[in-house]
Amino acid sequence: MWAYRSDVTASADIPPGSLVAVHDERGRVLGSALYSSTSEIAIRMVSREIVQNDEALISLVRERVRHALAYRKRVVEGDSDAYRLIFSEGDALPGLIVDRYASVLALQTLTQAMDRADLKGAVAGELLENLKAEGITSIVERVEPRIRQLEHLPEKTGGLLAGEEHSSTYKLNGVRFHFDGFAGQKTGAFLDQRENYSAAAHYAHGRALDAFCYQGGFALHLAPQCSSVTAVDSSRPALEVAEQNEALNPGHSQIEWIEANAFDLLRDYAAKGEQYDTIVLDPPAFAKSKRNLDTALRGYKELNLRALKMLRPGGILVTCSCSYHVSDQDFLEMLASAAADSFQQPRILEHRGQAKDHPTVLGVPETNYLKCFILAL
Ligand code: SAH
Repeated sequence: MWAYRSDVTASADIPPGSLVAVHDERGRVLGSALYSSTSEIAIRMVSREIVQNDEALISLVRERVRHALAYRKRVVEGDSDAYRLIFSEGDALPGLIVDRYASVLALQTLTQAMDRADLKGAVAGELLENLKAEGITSIVERVEPRIRQLEHLPEKTGGLLAGEEHSSTYKLNGVRFHFDGFAGQKTGAFLDQRENYSAAAHYAHGRALDAFCYQGGFALHLAPQCSSVTAVDSSRPALEVAEQNEALNPGHSQIEWIEANAFDLLRDYAAKGEQYDTIVLDPPAFAKSKRNLDTALRGYKELNLRALKMLRPGGILVTCSCSYHVSDQDFLEMLASAAADSFQQPRILEHRGQAKDHPTVLGVPETNYLKCFILAL
């Protein structure tokens, strides 16, 4: 699906972001791709056939947008009106991310090709045509400056691509959250955890701890099931939104929000002999590349070891990794080693991944990144 720059022998100067035909060394047709003149990923395949011209490309992109929307209708269940509508390679639309937050869409382009005005315009048009019946008229563009630098795209700030709304209140499994498309760096929430939130809530009980809580995704799902919830994050702005989110969901035990480094806090709490019935660990990606895999695994192990030591008998550990470079196998081995060191024998209740609106495509390993294990003592 991808080819790296070192593998490409381009025959001519190719304009950034253009549609290219791809042939193997013997001249056989491999299909069509979108080209980046700067990224290490020089080409991302869009078809196993030759797409004749930009007009044909645009109609292919429009068709894939419709297909992506239809797929979400099949796989998004429960009381949720926020989910990923388009997941780049997962929807055969490489370089394009679109999330729905109730009445507002958040769109992000990651490549020169998807940032082209004609393609972005076609995507926005197709989305609005199909979704206006559901009351969606606004699209916010989200911008990641680092990605634009890598792709040599001109600097810009995010803003409205269509409509007038940039904020909304949305629901995940019936739990309410604020979205503001003009705030923060991310597209908004970690929608890939939506199904894991309800799985965690299903087993959660007693005294709970949510390390790396961000805007409260897990904590707010745990609160109705637990006698107390302590939620920790090092980001003050994230915790401020978390508290506003809590106010949207009254009627459960209060959550204690703590601004701290989760590594330090877990060490202190473990030393003090604190105990929990439910612990969630959902840290940021520690392995940004294959090179720091070992350091990353040491970080994951430290967290999981401390958590296992603090769990009461019958306790639940929900432990995640969103590092693509950490495989299921690596993560399981790390967990086994943490379990051995903690003198515990946790059982694997569930072996989970990203929600189905972030589809994993067979043969496209880049589309599979999130690991979520639910362990029980
Ligand atoms: N569980 C969250 C997503 C977590 S993302 C959800 O479902 O919404 C990772 C979070 O870890 C970010 O909010 C980031 O601010 C926080 N973080 C990063 N390093 C940290 C550290 N050392 N201690 C505590 N929080 C940290």
